[in-house]
Amino acid sequence: MTAKLKVGVVGATGMVGQRFISLLAAHPWFELACVAASPQSAGKPYAEAVAGRWSLPGAVPANAARLTVLDAAQVEQVAGQVDFVFCAVDLAKDATATLEEAYAKRETPVVSNNSAHRWTADVPMMIPEVNDGHAQVIDAQRRRLGTTRGFISVKPNCSIQSYVPALHPLRDFGLTKVAVCTYQAVSGAGKTLESWPEMVDNVIPFIKGEEEKSEQEPLKVWGSVSDGRVVNAALPRITAQCVRVPVSDGHLAAVFVAFERKPSKEQILEAWRAYAGTPQALKLPSAPSPFLNYLEDDARPQTKLDRDAGNGQAVSLGRLRPDTVFDWKFVALSHNTVRGAAGGAVLTAELLKAQGYLTAK
Ligand code: NAP
Repeated sequence: MTAKLKVGVVGATGMVGQRFISLLAAHPWFELACVAASPQSAGKPYAEAVAGRWSLPGAVPANAARLTVLDAAQVEQVAGQVDFVFCAVDLAKDATATLEEAYAKRETPVVSNNSAHRWTADVPMMIPEVNDGHAQVIDAQRRRLGTTRGFISVKPNCSIQSYVPALHPLRDFGLTKVAVCTYQAVSGAGKTLESWPEMVDNVIPFIKGEEEKSEQEPLKVWGSVSDGRVVNAALPRITAQCVRVPVSDGHLAAVFVAFERKPSKEQILEAWRAYAGTPQALKLPSAPSPFLNYLEDDARPQTKLDRDAGNGQAVSLGRLRPDTVFDWKFVALSHNTVRGAAGGAVLTAELLKAQGYLTAK
């Protein structure tokens, strides 16, 4: 058996960082070697740094609990201990972009949750089942950065991770217009219902920047690669409304869709049933199978019942029916801090390892 790659989590103490820690507790390919966060946490054992704010079931995994948290800005120190890092810091966009580039230039690949580099044309923004081919822009990115192994790969926003997978196998029917309303959990804001009591018995119809991301990021995910850059797809036109709801985890989306060649209900269900991506073909450790689950019960998917499908990596679909304005409408659900954040990044890293982009130093 080949040795595991040594990985660091930068932003390890936050909501997404904690998910990384839990997903890396017994990962078959990756071994947690280093945790980093802000100067406030630096110097403390990880268990102490997250005391009182560990938000996942069970205790802090033993392999993380005893690690001393490093200052994320000490790039040399962190990079010296790992083959690559996951990044989930909550910093200003410019500062995040600079920090991630510093790691990449120190020959330490970065698989990031952050939005800072999502629009950098030679940075792949991947949903591994949808656009694994975008990894090829890493070669051009390495030339730009002057690195031999360092690069940045990002994952798209959590809000799009249910409806983009659902729409992807339907693109053959000429997807023209999409309207989507997302119902997003409080963990998407790095909070719990306990730490955000104003959300209990409440709905907030505004999430800063989320509608723009929900409308634009799918076009990069569905883009084509030309000359070492991702060129956005022109269609579909997407309009989004994003709403915060009093749910701990799980982003639900109500989706309306129009096609050039309207498929039948059976054709849509068959396209979903049959769809599998490269992660399924390669049997990557975190790949859910099936990727898309259609539930016949009209009252499903529900956040509480269905967000953990496929260990939180699968997408649950339901309520496919004709629409009076668009062609079809349906509901889609994904786990925002697993598939939408840390889990999606871990699956991306597995794909990048399988493709030969992530290697031991
Ligand atoms: P969070 O719970 O607020 O955690 C933020 C993390 O960043 C903590 O580890 C924190 O360390 C660290 N940090 C803060 N200031 C820092 C500094 N000056 N230097 C280094 N590290 C610093 O946030 P989150 O919800 O996990 O989100 C993290 C990132 O992922 C954000 O960019 C967010 O937009 C993105 N994201 C979140 C989700 C989600 O579902 N929550 C989904 C997709 C993407 P300390 O504990 O030491 O302060």
